[in-house]
Amino acid sequence: MLLQKRLRILIIILLSLLVINTFNSCSKDDDAIEPDKKEAPDKPIEDKDESTDGPTSEEGGITLYSVNGYDITKKTDYKVADNLLELQKDNQKHTEIWGLISKVIPNNYITFFNEYIVITGEESGIAGYVVQTTNDLTKWQIGIAIDLAYYGGFNRDGELSYTIIHEFGHVLTLNDTQVNSNKTENDCQNYFPGEGCAKEGSYINALFQNFWKDIHDEFQNIGDDESEKQAFYEKYETRFVTQYASTNPAEDIAESFTHFVIFDKPTGDTYANKKVQLFYNYPELIELRNHIRKSLNIGTKTKSTPVIKVWKRGSTFGKKGQKRS
Ligand SMILES: [Zn+2]
Repeated sequence: MLLQKRLRILIIILLSLLVINTFNSCSKDDDAIEPDKKEAPDKPIEDKDESTDGPTSEEGGITLYSVNGYDITKKTDYKVADNLLELQKDNQKHTEIWGLISKVIPNNYITFFNEYIVITGEESGIAGYVVQTTNDLTKWQIGIAIDLAYYGGFNRDGELSYTIIHEFGHVLTLNDTQVNSNKTENDCQNYFPGEGCAKEGSYINALFQNFWKDIHDEFQNIGDDESEKQAFYEKYETRFVTQYASTNPAEDIAESFTHFVIFDKPTGDTYANKKVQLFYNYPELIELRNHIRKSLNIGTKTKSTPVIKVWKRGSTFGKKGQKRS
């Protein structure tokens, strides 16, 4: 029948459009957030029947929890778009994500966290971030994108595990035992990640002195142009475990730490290999690696290694109070 045939064609077109749209939102490799075209500019917020009365969050925040050890307590439900209300109400998912965070972070490090925020990552492509909540770098907030955490199923292919280990890597290397927040860049003889001055003997200073010092001037001359960043990566590809690691030394150490945790010890002699090997010089980091691997069943026959994450994360250049994605 003609009508049926037409209908079938229409359905195929609609499905194709849906697939293309989904693909675009997954592979967006641009930091720019497109303005929401769906919302009429003058529509008063009160018109949304179901929306919560909480404060708005500029950074995609859905629900904020305060953290005390491994316990979390809901602090704020942010005002969110209607399509996010279901995820906001889904406390079980919030708790399930926190459960995985708790598995990764051992008790001598969980004390560095005082906030956990559930965010949406669909638009920004940010799967997770951390940011200090106190200027002295003793307390941190961890944000995890709930939509990406459940994309294709909870922690599909271990991608959420990867994100959490990466974010933990930031706090591991930027907390107050590693970085002195009182020193300015001019006073700093060591690497200055932005949050403060890396202490002598800190992990990030070791990484910087060994593997970044010779290219840092060149790195600092890179502008915001994506093609320049790409060219820098391609020139020094063998130095980095992932392209994202070439964003800056802080991302490099978070990525290298994640590789240190999830993969076997590399035997090669590229800079990328050597960065991972560097962590084996610290007995407390080997202990940390063992803890996380045991906790997540990494390296056992039954559980596969988390995949290298594919979500694009916002690039950060480490100004004080800036998020580390
Ligand atoms: Zn990061």
